[in-house]
Amino acid sequence: MEYYKSASLQSQFRGYDYFKNDKVISFKQIDDSIYHGKVKGNNQVYDVTIDVLHPKKNSHCNCPHAEGTKIICKHMVALYFAIFPLKAKQFMDEIDEHNREVEEYEHELEMKMRKYIKSMSKKELEEALLECLYQVDWLYNNFIRDRVGY
Ligand SMILES: [Zn+2]
Repeated sequence: MEYYKSASLQSQFRGYDYFKNDKVISFKQIDDSIYHGKVKGNNQVYDVTIDVLHPKKNSHCNCPHAEGTKIICKHMVALYFAIFPLKAKQFMDEIDEHNREVEEYEHELEMKMRKYIKSMSKKELEEALLECLYQVDWLYNNFIRDRVGY
C-alpha cells in the first residue's frame, strides 16, 4: 500500500497542500525505508520521521495531532510527497480519476431517469408529479404560485 494511504483523506489533502506550498524545509534518508525531515507548521517547525515500508510502526511527528499516537499526519504526508514527487502526482491523478468516475456515474443515472420518464404514461406521470409535490412543501407552494397561478 502507498504510504500516504495510511493517513486520513483529509490529512492526504492537507499534506499535499503542504508539499505544494514548499512547507518541507529539508529531508535526509536515515535507513533503507526511513527518512527524517523538517516541515513548517503554522507557528513552528516540526521534526518528522517516516518509514515508507512500515507507516504506523516507525513514523513520528512532534505536532500536537500525531505526537505519541500512531496517526499518519499531514506533515508526514508532505514529507513523503517531497521525497517522492511522482507519488504526489499519482495521488492527484487518483483524485481526478475518482471525480471523473463520479461525474460519469451521475450522468449515467440522469440518462436512465430520463429514459424511464419517457417510458411513463400520462397517467403515471400525473401521479408521480403529485406524489413529488406532496412531499416537498416549498415545491408544492411554488408550483401552485408559478404554474397554477393561484
Ligand atoms: Zn505532524
